[in-house]
Amino acid sequence: MSTRTLLPAVAGCMLLFGCLADRSSNGGGRLKSASFANAAAVGGFHALGPKSVLVLTLRSSTQTTRCTNATMSAIVFTDKRSASPYSGSVAGFYSENSYGQMTISGQVSGTYPIDMTFPCTLSNMKTWADAADAAATAAGVNVNAYDAKVYMLPPESTTKCSPWGGWTEGNRIWIRDDQCDAKFILAHELGHTFGASHSSIPGSTNEATYGDASSNMGGLLLVADSVTRRPADPTTLYIWNRTAHWNAPEKIDAGWLTGNSVQTVSVGGSYRVAMLEQAPSTDPQVLKIGTKYISYRRAVGYDSDLWNVCGFHAGGWAACTPGQYVDKTSVHTGGNGRETILLANLGDGQSFTDGSGLTVTQTRHDSIYAYLMVTFSAPRRAR
Ligand SMILES: [Zn+2]
Repeated sequence: MSTRTLLPAVAGCMLLFGCLADRSSNGGGRLKSASFANAAAVGGFHALGPKSVLVLTLRSSTQTTRCTNATMSAIVFTDKRSASPYSGSVAGFYSENSYGQMTISGQVSGTYPIDMTFPCTLSNMKTWADAADAAATAAGVNVNAYDAKVYMLPPESTTKCSPWGGWTEGNRIWIRDDQCDAKFILAHELGHTFGASHSSIPGSTNEATYGDASSNMGGLLLVADSVTRRPADPTTLYIWNRTAHWNAPEKIDAGWLTGNSVQTVSVGGSYRVAMLEQAPSTDPQVLKIGTKYISYRRAVGYDSDLWNVCGFHAGGWAACTPGQYVDKTSVHTGGNGRETILLANLGDGQSFTDGSGLTVTQTRHDSIYAYLMVTFSAPRRAR
C-alpha cells in the first residue's frame, strides 16, 4: 500500500506537483551517451531510437527503498496497460508516446548501500549516486552503458528530500522513496533526460511552469472529486500512474511528428487534424500557424485518463474543470527547446484569437478528427 498522502485542494500546497514533484537543473545536454542524432529533432532532444535505463535500488544503514526490484522492473519495463485506470509501464508509455520511434530497455539492480548524509542537497545526492555506481560496478553492472540512471532512494528521503518527488541532473534521476511507484514522476524525469522541458501556461509561478497537465511534462492536479470518483482504489495510485502523451510542440521537437503530420498553414479555410494519440499516417495531426501549434486530444491509449486531468487556471486549482482537454483542440506555443505554453482548449464552437488576427475555431469533432476553421484578419504572407 502506498503511504503517499493526498493533499486536498486547500491551503498552500494545492499543486501537488509543485509540492511534491521535481526539480531539474539544466536545460540541455543531459545525456552522456546520446548516440541517436536526428535532423528532425530539436537540439537538446535525444528521444529517438533505443534508450537504456538503469534503475538502482538503494538502502541506508537502517532502511531499504520501499519498492522492490521486481516492482521497479514492472513499473519501468514490463507492466501492460490495462483499460482503466492504470497506465502501463514507463517504457510502454514512451513507445506509444513516440509512435514506436523510441524504445526503452534496461534493468533494475540492487539493493546497494549508500551513506545517507543529509541534508538532501545536490552535492550529497551526487555522493549517494557515486557510491551506488561504485557498488553496482563492483557487482558487475556496467553503469556507464546506460542513457539514464535512476536512483531509488531509501525511506529517509521521503521527509529529508521533500518537497520534490524526483530530481534530474544530467542523465541521473533521484526518486524519493514514497514516489518510487509513481509512473508519472518516473516518466516525467526521464523526459528531462530525453531533452524535454516543462509544459506550462502563461505566467511565471511554479504552478504556471507545470500548468499544462495534458502532457506528462506538465503538472498533475488532484481535485477533490478525483479521489471520490474511484473509491475502489483507496491508494489513488492511479493518479500517480497517469502518463499523458506529450503535447504537439514537444512531439515535434522530439522528432516524433514530421512530414505530413505537421501542416504549415498560412491561408484561412477549413482544416482537419487527426487526434494526437494516433500513430502518424497521411493525416495532419498538428497545424503549425506561425508560432502556434494546433492539435486534437482524445482519451485513448495512455491518454485514457485524460478526462480526469486539468491544468492550472487563473482561478486557482479549485477552478479546474475535468475534461478540459478531451475531445478538444489544444493551442500551444513555445517549445523549440524551451517550455511549451498552453494557450487554449477549444470545444465545439469555441475560438482562439491571437494578437496577429489569427482565429481558430473547432467547428465539430468525431472519434478521430477535429474540424477547424482558420481565419486571418489581414492578408498574411505565405511562409
Ligand atoms: Zn520536471
